[in-house]
Amino acid sequence: MDQTAYLQKQKEEEAGYEARCKRCGACCGASGDDPCVRLRKDNSGKYFCSVYDTRIGKQFTISGKEFSCVPIRYLRPQLPFKDCAYYKK
Ligand code: SF4
Ligand code: SF4
Repeated sequence: MDQTAYLQKQKEEEAGYEARCKRCGACCGASGDDPCVRLRKDNSGKYFCSVYDTRIGKQFTISGKEFSCVPIRYLRPQLPFKDCAYYKK
């Protein structure tokens, strides 16, 4: 496989991985009383991150608590959200 084909495959795999997300918002605190301040909900009721491309790193909850946003894969295999599309036992 040449480099172009490899990069294309990587892009497709990443898109497929991202597409699995149900946008339930659980990993961003949607079901609790102190979600991330960057969390938004669209007209269909699904959640999204308002700073997705630059989300990794220091963030705050709506009450002002600091935390670190990390890629969802870093939370595996101990994902605390059992309904998460990426949850694995
Ligand atoms: S910054 Fe991180 S925790 Fe906050 S809404 Fe975006 S993805 Fe979720
Ligand atoms: S908990 Fe899982 S399925 Fe729900 S928004 Fe987060 S990554 Fe997506």
